[in-house]
Amino acid sequence: MYSERINNLPPYLFAAIDKAKARVIEKGVDVIDLGVGDPDMPTPDNVIRALYRSAQNPNRHQYPSYTGMLSFREAAAKWYKEHLGIELDPVSQVLTLIGSKEGIAHIPLAFINPGEIALIPDPAYPVYKIGTLFADGKPFIMPLLEENGFLPDLDAIPKDVAKLAKLMFLNYPNNPTSAIAPDKFFEDVIEFAKENEVIIVHDNAYSEMTFDGYKAPSFLKFDGAMDVGIEMHSLSKTYNMTGWRIGFAVGNAEILDGLGKVKTNIDSGAFEAVQEAGITAMQGPQQCISDMNKLYTHRRDALMVGLKELGIDVQPPKATFYIWAPVPEGHDSMGLSKILLEEAGIVATPGVGFGEYGEGYVRFSLTRSVERINEAVERMGQLKI
Ligand SMILES: *Cc1c(COP(=O)(O)O)cnc(C)c1O
Repeated sequence: MYSERINNLPPYLFAAIDKAKARVIEKGVDVIDLGVGDPDMPTPDNVIRALYRSAQNPNRHQYPSYTGMLSFREAAAKWYKEHLGIELDPVSQVLTLIGSKEGIAHIPLAFINPGEIALIPDPAYPVYKIGTLFADGKPFIMPLLEENGFLPDLDAIPKDVAKLAKLMFLNYPNNPTSAIAPDKFFEDVIEFAKENEVIIVHDNAYSEMTFDGYKAPSFLKFDGAMDVGIEMHSLSKTYNMTGWRIGFAVGNAEILDGLGKVKTNIDSGAFEAVQEAGITAMQGPQQCISDMNKLYTHRRDALMVGLKELGIDVQPPKATFYIWAPVPEGHDSMGLSKILLEEAGIVATPGVGFGEYGEGYVRFSLTRSVERINEAVERMGQLKI
């Protein structure tokens, strides 16, 4: 009944985790869910009020334009200048998205012919690979190895593959590894892109979620980036707005135009009241960002204590709300997740859920309160593994 593209989808591990979690909850266990990459704190009040105000305006009720309201794109351009130091033309270099996932899933349709290659990191946010498969493209996996700082080794990409590749997906600060990329890496990527005529799609969903004085750059900051690529951005993580479905893409106008052509034919843009709430998020007080980062730093440091108890040796991450923890000897990622869930009531995501090179790790999200994390830590202390 289903198409091959649906039948050939890899099994959705997260559904299996949800089932296992539900079984444990049914037994009456007080489960602490450190599995989800979804902020637990509410959207700032001023943003909620802006939605309410805007939704009352009948002019906001009709089909939006697929490129986004000019006022939203202007606000995004201004935000990029203020937060990341990048000058953008709001008309040609900013495109509103219905969440960045939408842009990521759609962009292969604009550039990949059947059988053409997209370079995909592994472990990674699953949408890069699935979006490529849905466009009948061929994913070529770039392993992210700890010994390389979880950066892809560009020299390890065979010359013929590099020449045939149309797209490369990247994401720093990184989900799930929480790795950050040094400037030199982005410079090498741009050289690679020019040499091989590959379009770079950098997913910068976590640019604002940084700790210990680290500031994440925009990919567009580096010489030549604007010639070869775009950056996906999202209000989801920065302003606790995952449910609102609002993001945007910035960068090379021709590439954005390609994505826009797909969008005109598939969706009809983001609800204008949500775009206006997004403007308020980007133009209102930005204190919420540093407040959230303080909170995540506390939670991170609390969880680090528990990981030590388990004999897991990992550096505190400088960005993202994830801890990518190596699994102790004698276990694999599914095995450790199972023990954590069944013997301690803690949900952590097995690394293989993000690709084969995620094996050997589990991902903890810092999306629960310090109190709950401390409770998890206490349970970890009693766990024998
Ligand atoms: C959360 C996340 C996104 C954001 O998705 P939205 O569709 O904007 O909510 C994008 N990329 C990565 C890697 C993420 O973890």
